[in-house]
Parts: sequence; structure tokens; C-alpha cells
Amino acid sequence: MKIKCYRCNSIAVWCYSPGDVYACDEHVPRGCSCNIKDTGELDEDGNLIPILDEEGNCVEETDEHGRLLPCCEWDYNLYGHDEFDEDDYDRFMEQYSELNDE
Ligand SMILES: [Zn+2]
Ligand SMILES: [Zn+2]
Repeated sequence: MKIKCYRCNSIAVWCYSPGDVYACDEHVPRGCSCNIKDTGELDEDGNLIPILDEEGNCVEETDEHGRLLPCCEWDYNLYGHDEFDEDDYDRFMEQYSELNDE
């Protein structure tokens, strides 16, 4: 079983690791300060200088469809994320107790 999106029934291809939230490509929150493009140059405080558009806003990285990227804390997995089911848990506990019996 694959884990479903937190907002719809699609398979979740994104996983937010700090909070264990799963989302499909459509519902993953997009846009984050960690995706801001920079010029590769530093200002006098040693901070990277961001690239600005004509209105003076920071420019963020986009994917091949021109969409903003999710925060870097979202992990992408093309095949979705497997649900942790009871069988897996039993198998895991068996292996674990075998290791500890030695
Ligand atoms: Zn969704
Ligand atoms: Zn971020």
C-alpha cells in the first residue's frame, strides 16, 4: 500500500520529513525562501545576494513546468511512499530479535 496525499486520494510522492506529512504533486505546498536563486556573490555582510525581478522581488527556483519548488525539507519519491503495515512490523521485529539472540 502506498501512502495517500493529505488532501486527496492520489498517491503521495512528496514527504515532509520533519512532520511526517505526505502530499501529491498537486497539493504539496510550493514556494520557500530556501529556493531563492542567488547571484553567487556575497554582500558586505557575507550573505548571498538574491536575484531580483523587475519589481524587486526575490526569484525562486522552478521545476520543468515552471512551478515553484516545495521546501527542501520535502522529499520527492516518484513511486510514492510505502505504508508501514503490520506484516512489515512483524518481519522487522523477527529480524530484530534474531540479532539480539546472539
Ligand atoms: Zn493531493
Ligand atoms: Zn524551505
